[in-house]
Amino acid sequence: MRSMVWFRGKDLRVADHQPLLEAASQGEVIPLFVLDDFFFSSERAKELPHRMQFLLDSLRSLEDNLKHLGSRLLIASGRSVDLIPKLAELWKVDQVLAHRWTEPFARERDLRIEASLNALKIRFRLFEGETLGTPGSVRNQSGGMFGVFTPFSKAFLRDVRVAPPLSAPKSLPPIPSHLDFVGASIPSMDSLGLKTNPRVQTGGEREARSRMKHFLAESILGYGDRRNRMDVEGTSRLSADLKFGTLSARTLWHAASGCYGLNHDGSVRAFQNELLWREFSHHLLWDRPTLLKKPFREAFEGFPWEDDDAAWKAWCQGRTGYPIVDAASRQLLETGFVHNRARMISASFLTKHLLISYQRGESHYMKYLTDGDWAQNNAGWQWSAGCGCDAQPYFRIFNPVTQGETFDPNGDYVRRFVPELASLETKWIHQPWGAPDKSRKQLDYPDPIVDHVFARQRFLSVAKQHLAKEKP
Ligand SMILES: Cc1cc2nc3c(=O)[nH]c(=O)nc-3n(C[C@H](O)[C@H](O)[C@H](O)COP(=O)(O)OP(=O)(O)OC[C@H]3O[C@@H](n4cnc5c(N)ncnc54)[C@H](O)[C@@H]3O)c2cc1C
Repeated sequence: MRSMVWFRGKDLRVADHQPLLEAASQGEVIPLFVLDDFFFSSERAKELPHRMQFLLDSLRSLEDNLKHLGSRLLIASGRSVDLIPKLAELWKVDQVLAHRWTEPFARERDLRIEASLNALKIRFRLFEGETLGTPGSVRNQSGGMFGVFTPFSKAFLRDVRVAPPLSAPKSLPPIPSHLDFVGASIPSMDSLGLKTNPRVQTGGEREARSRMKHFLAESILGYGDRRNRMDVEGTSRLSADLKFGTLSARTLWHAASGCYGLNHDGSVRAFQNELLWREFSHHLLWDRPTLLKKPFREAFEGFPWEDDDAAWKAWCQGRTGYPIVDAASRQLLETGFVHNRARMISASFLTKHLLISYQRGESHYMKYLTDGDWAQNNAGWQWSAGCGCDAQPYFRIFNPVTQGETFDPNGDYVRRFVPELASLETKWIHQPWGAPDKSRKQLDYPDPIVDHVFARQRFLSVAKQHLAKEKP
């Protein structure tokens, strides 16, 4: 049996990789990665600089790991829909094995590839591995999808047994000799017209493992209390690893519960609960592929978002005059990461204080986040804008000052990313406009671009009017 194992960018690992293990147990294995123009044309690569940097690191690490096991990662350049069937035929493979993706465009691509392979009498086998369970498998009592997180998570914990992770193969057979192939190599950031950002996390399976070990040893206990604090390192920072699959969600799930047991101060369960938020967003997108284009709450369609370009620019650059919002925007641009609480505050501010469409914010985040993921990012933005899956109605509007004071009580997060406020007394750090004139005038920092009380009222009345109009 000769198998092609198609690594697709969300499974850049050798451990807990069922397609690889299965292929290795059946005979010859050809590991392949396609530099698809969809991501690797220089136009497209510019739209995802941090994700690309992490992906290239992870590919190099995968290349090393496969070599270490006795095999090799072949790299081909072109469109996967054309290349996979073409190479499978050329190399006379019996089957193509890969992990399933959740996104609608990927599902459509898989159907096309499957049809081409079937016409060649080559099997196409897709495996689970991106999520903890199988998207679409957790159902409510009437057999439908869950639209709210808590009942979803309860049903998941009741009905799904998260499969234990598989080991990496001990060794792999060498690539079959005489393959007709002029391979490409992993591109450099330079060749894609991108600059390396030293503050972006390093990708790769080994790095992922060491981040996981560090988190489990140092931070998981107390996670429940600290995870909302923007000023401390209280979270795992494993989101990009999960996104690119340098670590599988199943591995992390079991490592977390294996570490201290579930009952120890509730932190392990609190952490697993966040993994379930990830799971929820993937299950949602599976059931509602239109989510990437339309709001979950249909009544929000046609919402009168405003095109205020000056406000948009101020938000993107971190110059809104609200320190916690600005710290989030600058953390994104500088490091490719934003703390979850800061994402919620920042997204709420853009959509509710500035009335700018969540879809604009969503694309900006997709551009700069290293962990930018269609399902999770979309769910996070829709939740924050009030049009997504949320038990609460649209009128939760974060107050950026009280949020800052609660979750960045000493102002350390703000000082780190908004250094022009570093010398400000803690009492004014989240509302510099209140500081005495003398210290305020020395700051090169704008006044708030919108008043909180005014913005809150404005959003509530616009939303109320729109939703009333939409009611049948
Ligand atoms: C507006 C907005 C946009 C977001 N965009 C993304 C995105 O593109 N990619 C992404 O991975 N996460 C996204 N999130 C979720 C969350 O902010 C990040 O997963 C988290 O901040 C990553 O940090 P961490 O790995 O230290 O998280 P931890 O607190 O250590 O959590 C562990 C893992 O659980 C998952 N997770 C945690 N919180 C959430 C959540 N609220 N929703 C879904 N999954 C979660 C992540 O995979 C995370 O790595 C977004 C949230 C919001 C509000």
